[in-house]
Amino acid sequence: MKILRIFFIVLGGFVVLGAPAFAREAHVHGLAHMNVGVEGEKVEIKLVSPLANVISFEYRPETDAQKKEVRNMAAVMRKADSLFVLSAEAGCRLKEVSLESGVMDDCMLSSGGAGCAEIAHARHEGGKREAHEHGASGDHDHGHAGLEVEVSFMCRHPEKLNSMKVDLFRVFPNLHEMEVQMVIPGGQKAAELTPESNTLRW
Ligand SMILES: [Zn+2]
Repeated sequence: MKILRIFFIVLGGFVVLGAPAFAREAHVHGLAHMNVGVEGEKVEIKLVSPLANVISFEYRPETDAQKKEVRNMAAVMRKADSLFVLSAEAGCRLKEVSLESGVMDDCMLSSGGAGCAEIAHARHEGGKREAHEHGASGDHDHGHAGLEVEVSFMCRHPEKLNSMKVDLFRVFPNLHEMEVQMVIPGGQKAAELTPESNTLRW
């Protein structure tokens, strides 16, 4: 019995430690998952969300309007310091933002979507054919796709860092809830954010 209990404690430890690495999270529209890690001067954020929370479709953008929607969303995400607002006294500076989605070319998610035109054109031709094969119902039944956003900050006074306001709900009204796992100095913490309660404190 004692051995069994030890086994469970060890297993429990792995589950907790494994959490920030993100197991395959359920794809639920309106819900996003976020991991926040604070270590020394560094703050790292990883956001995993269905695309439907941040744009109006979940497939490879085909029309100019869809491509523009993706570029606009990417531009907003790149200004991550206005979406993730850390304690002002901590003097944190945004270092890096990276976006990734299984249905988008990297060039489309990088700053300005520049250099994307030729690739996008080639894809468009392929995509067109595929769409025809699937019938001309106009219904884009290409399954569900997500977006991963990684953000890092460096803070001059990390000892003064104790809160983060998450302003994503205001910018993306289809996002209703976020499940958050935090690894902060002194331990781990889970939290749930909503438009009414959008600040993490530790
Ligand atoms: Zn979906």
